[in-house]
Amino acid sequence: MSKEVYNPYQELLSTIDQAGKKLGLNSNDYKMLKWPERELKVSIPIEMDDGSLEVFDGYRVQHSDSRGPYKGGVRYHPAVDIDEVRALAGWMTLKCSLVDIPFGGAKGGIKCDPLKLSKNELKKITRRYITMIEPIIGCDVDIPAPDVNTNAQIMSWMYDTYSMIKGHNIPGIVTGKPQIIEGCKARQGATGRGVMITVENLFNKLAKELKGVSVAIQGFGNVGMVAAELLAEKGCKIVAVSDVSGGLYDKNGLNISKIKEYLGPERKLLSEFNKGGVTHIGNSDLLCLDVDILIPAALENQITAEIAKKIKADYIVEAANGPTTIEADKILASKNIKILPDILANAGGVIVSYFEWVQNKESVRWEDEEINKRLRRLLTEAFNEVWKTYEKEHVSFRMAAYMVSLNRIVETKKIRGIFP
Ligand code: NAD
Repeated sequence: MSKEVYNPYQELLSTIDQAGKKLGLNSNDYKMLKWPERELKVSIPIEMDDGSLEVFDGYRVQHSDSRGPYKGGVRYHPAVDIDEVRALAGWMTLKCSLVDIPFGGAKGGIKCDPLKLSKNELKKITRRYITMIEPIIGCDVDIPAPDVNTNAQIMSWMYDTYSMIKGHNIPGIVTGKPQIIEGCKARQGATGRGVMITVENLFNKLAKELKGVSVAIQGFGNVGMVAAELLAEKGCKIVAVSDVSGGLYDKNGLNISKIKEYLGPERKLLSEFNKGGVTHIGNSDLLCLDVDILIPAALENQITAEIAKKIKADYIVEAANGPTTIEADKILASKNIKILPDILANAGGVIVSYFEWVQNKESVRWEDEEINKRLRRLLTEAFNEVWKTYEKEHVSFRMAAYMVSLNRIVETKKIRGIFP
């Protein structure tokens, strides 16, 4: 599928349709999910450091709140557009339902290149964005969180801005905050930890050992780096990792802690990493390596039909949202390559966001150990539900996950009825 015709929201709708048919639902039962419930487009004017004025496009899309307040991250990236934000919001609705937490789905985005912005400019964009979307967000209404290129610092500015507008502290307005301002320490690594737990759940079902299993990871950010570290701890051999600048490969396994140490808090680029034994490879080379597990952890639309034909991994675990196109999905199925879908594999982040939100609302603090135990329990329950449907219905893991999730949303909608 070429980049021009790729539309992530249409891909999501098509998968929902397939799941609805498999479940034998009447299309009226889930028709409402095809339209996000509310969308806000804002134009964010910023006085840049050099005195010039720039205006950035910002979005907040609230896809569905039938199962709880809208919930979803905010992405800062040059490729952000309305269809991407709609798709990300829709995936959140399905993800929260699949792991059975009381949230609906939303997402936000600002079309900008954070690598070209100073800290001061980023802060101004963040504060102005929150001020402009303030009428539609709230601790019980819609709760933002981090996504690509947003982090705990940005969440702190969001929390502060919203609290200033309201005149008192409302920590539950965003999740992914630093621990010192009522964030949850485990949140930062939660998505990567969830990826590791999902891989463990799969290998447990297959009665296979993780020791020595080879893994390639595209995207070495918040999610990919933690997944790499935790899988290496479990004995996996991480043979390749990459970021936007390219990838590193070592058939004997990379030293993930050394790479992390080199990148530092300022997150240098992998292309500048020059240590013996490591070969530099391109991002599409990484996707086509002969490994046991491939983990896309960067952006959507990475595993296209063209790439899918060349993929040699046995399993794909989608840490990123929407990395595989529908056309690629079909090709991979014909090659018997199994995919653990995004709405299951990367749900660890929103699960721990839910825990952070509960703690903020109740002014309590849970230990990391308690949080990680609860995370594992919810993810494993969701995994087992998906596995049961996969075996019973003879469908892919993705279809099984959509069926479990959609069924729950439809049941909720039916019991609530439609107002008026
Ligand atoms: P991040 O900004 O921390 O990291 C993204 C990484 O991908 C960086 O290493 C970047 O250099 C790399 N990258 C960007 N474009 C690339 C390309 N074309 N090829 C290879 N690498 C590229 O973002 P993140 O928070 O780790 O998010 C990664 C993915 O995980 C996204 O799809 C996001 O929606 C999804 N996700 C994130 C969370 C979370 O808690 N942060 C939760 C669920 C899902």
